[in-house]
Amino acid sequence: MRYIVGVDVGGTNIVAGTVAQDGSEVLGVVAEPTFVEQGPDAVVARIVKLARASIAQVPGKQVVGVGIGSPGPLDTKSGVVLLTPNLGWVNMPLRDRVSAGLGLPATLDNDANCAIFGEWWLGAARGADHVVGLTVGTGIGGGIVLGGAIYHGASDIAGEIGHMTIDSTGRLCKCGNYGCLEAYASGPAIAARAVEGITAGADTALPQYVDSDLSKITAQVVYEAAHDGDAYALEVVRETSKLLGAGVANIINIFNPQVVVICGGVTLAGDTLFVPLRSEVKRRAFKPAVDVCRILPGVLGSMVWDTIYGRDPAQPAVEEWGGIAYALAGLDATLGEDWQILPIIKVGRDLAAQANTFLGTLRHLTPGTRFVEVPEPNNRVTLRYETSERRCEQMRGGVPSWTWPELGPLVADLDALYVNFISGFELTLETARLLRAGFPAPRLLYADLHSLFLGKEPDGTRVLQPLPQASAWFGCFDYIQLNEAEMRQLGDDPLAVAVGAMDQGCAALCVTLGIRGAVYFEQIMDAKTQRRVGPIRTARIAAPVAGGIPSGCGAGDPTGCGDVFGATVTAQLLQGAPLETAVREGCRLAARNVSYRGATGLAQHLLGKLPGA
Ligand SMILES: [Zn+2]
Repeated sequence: MRYIVGVDVGGTNIVAGTVAQDGSEVLGVVAEPTFVEQGPDAVVARIVKLARASIAQVPGKQVVGVGIGSPGPLDTKSGVVLLTPNLGWVNMPLRDRVSAGLGLPATLDNDANCAIFGEWWLGAARGADHVVGLTVGTGIGGGIVLGGAIYHGASDIAGEIGHMTIDSTGRLCKCGNYGCLEAYASGPAIAARAVEGITAGADTALPQYVDSDLSKITAQVVYEAAHDGDAYALEVVRETSKLLGAGVANIINIFNPQVVVICGGVTLAGDTLFVPLRSEVKRRAFKPAVDVCRILPGVLGSMVWDTIYGRDPAQPAVEEWGGIAYALAGLDATLGEDWQILPIIKVGRDLAAQANTFLGTLRHLTPGTRFVEVPEPNNRVTLRYETSERRCEQMRGGVPSWTWPELGPLVADLDALYVNFISGFELTLETARLLRAGFPAPRLLYADLHSLFLGKEPDGTRVLQPLPQASAWFGCFDYIQLNEAEMRQLGDDPLAVAVGAMDQGCAALCVTLGIRGAVYFEQIMDAKTQRRVGPIRTARIAAPVAGGIPSGCGAGDPTGCGDVFGATVTAQLLQGAPLETAVREGCRLAARNVSYRGATGLAQHLLGKLPGA
């Protein structure tokens, strides 16, 4: 297999990664700030350095070239970036300079073209011949893929969808024209329109979201207020979807694509945006063109569909959402009223509708959030219990891993992140490292490493194995959860393992012991200096005995105990509980989970609102 280094040159960050020629692998993803102010020579040197760093992470792979995505306008034939306001470049021979620096052949294209080509190749638009896409963010970029090739036009300007005129005497655009789509529907334009209305006296609670500092209103704040039911914010979002809908209708009438893919932060607005957008398109474009076209959000996570065979062969198998669904139920039951859950989870298209129905049962969900739908078949796991705690696990399906460029914008505003390795393929070590670097304290990172310890045989059977580069993983999270068997894979002396983990930077380790409860190891820190003081604190918390039934994860259905435990500990820590209290509560709810089958309705059961099934 041959490999290609891909580089995305942005105004804020440069990201490089090495991709298999058939798209089956994305390896060695590295990123650094662009530092535009250091000038073009320094930026080119940084691009070359990052591309080399990416190649260095894939020793033995045959890397044959480099592909560069840059803001434009640019000339693909000469490889020259003509003008970039964000980078301050004029006539910059980027392709040849990077090629010379690396000693590899290089190609250059517009970043939005690259993004949409990626969606056509491996993303939301996979399998379609004709695809048009928009990247909606600070600006609005576009890309056109016809018959499997990027359409560039006569001088590489094709696809500037953001600068289609939707009102010839309308708002002034940054490009100098009036009435461009970008002047209405980019993130800053949405915020500007909302602020203008407020200044003109609109009746809205929006100022309360920003302590009356209107300069702090962003498109995200407008979506948030719209989700909370603010009539004015809803009107701004509806207006935005109508304008975007008009733009998409134009695209459909001109190109007759099978898929229009819309990428970028705007997709987080979910149905509030997409439902009126789709109806506006239906109203405006020709029916035969609308009928063949799907309009999709273009972000590339893991809900697993479990089939669970109990020990009693007379009982039918339970089919339910696994893993993360238990954790979501645990979080939902434990979090205080003022917390919201934002799931960052990918679901295969085959099970997306069912997955979103499950999501609708949670109380603490950020309104309007949905799972991220991907075209790959969803992960499905068959569990066969041999004894109460020993089980055989087989996995099928292949939801792709998150990359840092996908994940970064989604976690930017979060207070905490609970990561559960349900499949073990959610994040690569590289992405976890970038996550750590991009998610500094006091924001909390909790990870249940579970399936990172599971190898996968050709038939999908999962086998327990030592975790490669375990110490590097320990450096990526504040709190780490393992079970007893996984802990044993790391060494014979649990205390030595814990000390090693804390040397890497993690603050505490929680080890679940099934029916016997859990053990924690905690680094004692000086609250002022955040330096380690004194020894490690450790204790075993016994699982409670409730209602006369010996609980813990020993009787009933133990599936999901670890997930409920971790979610509860995370929620407790977020609300300021000491680790020991958090672990005790985790054991209590995990024990309660045992008496309930499946994850649907589990949150209610954990709260004691439903009789045990
Ligand atoms: Zn414009």
